[in-house]
Amino acid sequence: MPRIFSGIQPSGELHIGNYLGAVKNWVDLQHEMETFICVVDYHAITQAFEPEELRQRTHGMALSLLAAGIDPEKATLFVQSHVREHTELAWFFMTLTPVGELERQTQYKDKSARMESVAAGILNYPVLQAADILLYHADTVPVGEDQIQHLELSREIARKWNARFGEGYFPEPQARLTPTRRILGLDGQAKMSKSLGNTVALLEPSAAIWDKLRPAMTDPARVKKTDPGNPDICNIFQLHKAFTPPDTVEQVAAQCRSAGWGCIDCKKVLHQGMEEVLTPIRTRAEALQATPKRVAEILGDGASRARTVAQRTIAEVRQKMGFD
Ligand code: ADP
Repeated sequence: MPRIFSGIQPSGELHIGNYLGAVKNWVDLQHEMETFICVVDYHAITQAFEPEELRQRTHGMALSLLAAGIDPEKATLFVQSHVREHTELAWFFMTLTPVGELERQTQYKDKSARMESVAAGILNYPVLQAADILLYHADTVPVGEDQIQHLELSREIARKWNARFGEGYFPEPQARLTPTRRILGLDGQAKMSKSLGNTVALLEPSAAIWDKLRPAMTDPARVKKTDPGNPDICNIFQLHKAFTPPDTVEQVAAQCRSAGWGCIDCKKVLHQGMEEVLTPIRTRAEALQATPKRVAEILGDGASRARTVAQRTIAEVRQKMGFD
């Protein structure tokens, strides 16, 4: 069976960009592929963090993933720091990865531009990511569009390691994107991202979502309700495509183009569509919040399943690299 691996940082709440760009794919693919889903807490500490908050966020992220539909019977859900082999493999890969290659990564350039002093962990972030994926010999990585460049680097690392230590040992992992591979924040400007504070959380209460939707950016050329709009350049319409039933999406587009509906009418329909999708997720989250031990149990189980695979890979890698 093909194997997929994907990770998410516990650096904030799971948001609808993560959900539509990646997590929804994990939930669908877990039925047809052997699935490893990892809460990547070692990645999260490349940004400012508080230990107690990190602990809570890691638990919270796992809970949100389960609420979103990750089924621990089907998928292996675990925390990166519970499987020590991730950092060992990352070190081996670091010795093969040119610094210039890492400095060319767009995410590195964006993050480091905002910092006075740049930690080596920020630079090496995609190497740890390559280790996460290759430790499980995953050939498919369902991610959002922002991760495509990092995956190209993972393939290069796999090729380099294979050429030096064992032809064909690591697969060259391919990205698997959803139709909504890049969700913008409600300001319609930048990618929706935890670090930019422009998100709608997956578990946000209905009224709070409406408070964010109401002032959200639409077609910038549509000033008055009587102006016809262009759904193709409206960020709200992109969200309709993800949350609203297809026949209603067509109606939304027609009403926008003919100025039949104003933007608030259109946003009300979106809010309704979001409620349909998010209500069952909130209900599952409430049940899990009432039984916190269950989440810890699932993570313990996941770590032991992940460790079995990771330890085998590291033993083989050490042997091939001359460490036994
Ligand atoms: P964030 O950027 O919010 O910190 P992560 O880096 O933890 O999120 O990414 C987790 C997954 O969610 C990755 O597969 C990433 O590609 C995807 N993702 C993150 N933001 C978006 C977005 N705005 N649109 C689509 N996918 C996204």
